[in-house]
Amino acid sequence: MDLVCHSCESRFTSTNRKRCACGEPLWFDIDSTQFDWTDLPRTSGVWRYADVLPADPAEDVTAGAGGTPLIRAERLDEYAGCRLYVKDEGQNPTGSFKDRGSSVGVTYADDAGRDWVGTVSHGNMAMSMAAVATSKGVNCAVLVPVRIPETRLGLIAQYDPEILTVTGDYGQLYYDTLDADGGIEFVNSDTPLRVAGQKTVAYEILESFAPETPDAIVLPVSSGGHASAVWKALRELRDATLIEKLPRIHLVQTAAVDPIAQAFRTGADSVEFIDPSDTVAFSISNGSPPSGNRALRAARETNGTVTSVSEEAIKEATRRLASNAGVCAEPASAVTLAGLNKLSQAGEITPNDEIVAIVTGTGFKESEIDIDVSTTDISLANLKKSLEEIAV
Ligand SMILES: [Zn+2]
Repeated sequence: MDLVCHSCESRFTSTNRKRCACGEPLWFDIDSTQFDWTDLPRTSGVWRYADVLPADPAEDVTAGAGGTPLIRAERLDEYAGCRLYVKDEGQNPTGSFKDRGSSVGVTYADDAGRDWVGTVSHGNMAMSMAAVATSKGVNCAVLVPVRIPETRLGLIAQYDPEILTVTGDYGQLYYDTLDADGGIEFVNSDTPLRVAGQKTVAYEILESFAPETPDAIVLPVSSGGHASAVWKALRELRDATLIEKLPRIHLVQTAAVDPIAQAFRTGADSVEFIDPSDTVAFSISNGSPPSGNRALRAARETNGTVTSVSEEAIKEATRRLASNAGVCAEPASAVTLAGLNKLSQAGEITPNDEIVAIVTGTGFKESEIDIDVSTTDISLANLKKSLEEIAV
């Protein structure tokens, strides 16, 4: 499979290459014209779509990635301003959407005889790469910044990767690892292998709706890799004539770090990098998104939007996902619900729209969630009476 540039359409035959000469990210050029929902090789999970992926393993542990539930979240319809579905990616093996790209990336590297994989991450992607790598017996280098909270380091370290703490500009590290990987296959946030695996989330969503098509898909945007992957999948499904019209792609950022939303608002052709401010949605705190321009195109060319939401709105949406839908989401994922609330007030979406919000990661890893707790005191002596009173 060749790699191709989304922007200038230059082609490259070496899959070691990750970015185009023009500076933009590459993705795999996949012929999906023969793809169909019938006769797929697996019942569920990432490898169900192996026909359109650059790797295809024997049945193994990476089969745990994908196959996440699509939940009809009726009790959030009013707040979201649409008929809402939640794609709960928190139910992947390490609790985030990252397991899809990690499974394809590590499998590809293993098949190519690489002993090492690596990633630049201090969150979900680091945990995911380390977990998939160790399950396949491949070594994994995780590059983290010097200042990283102990609890998060522990979450990564449990999977026993080689953890390298790096001094210097952590944002620049992404680019430098692409050029200087040596014997290590780096699967970073928007590299071709990760985007290839990540696109399976959109295949699953569209297969769930087939032969209908949802009106829109809403997801958080950080590096732009996930947004690119969803866009790529929709284009491939259109090539396969399984959908006629691409669902709109609505992307949401935190207002604390929203370079892509700023470019969308101002009508700019490309994303200007910014310095991130503190945010409760730290998983999407990326001021220098390497696939920012590609994500911007994904939103514009599908008649979608890129919007940003306040810290208060993110906390409110996190609480509502749990209390009204039973979904424990990390704040970085709850931006989707906050974004829908904002878009509906602006008239960008309507109550009859069928919209899928991708909840990218579980909230179970979060140690500082701000919840108002109320309890009722009862005594064992009056148990029966108390329970009767409560159930009135
Ligand atoms: Zn190019």
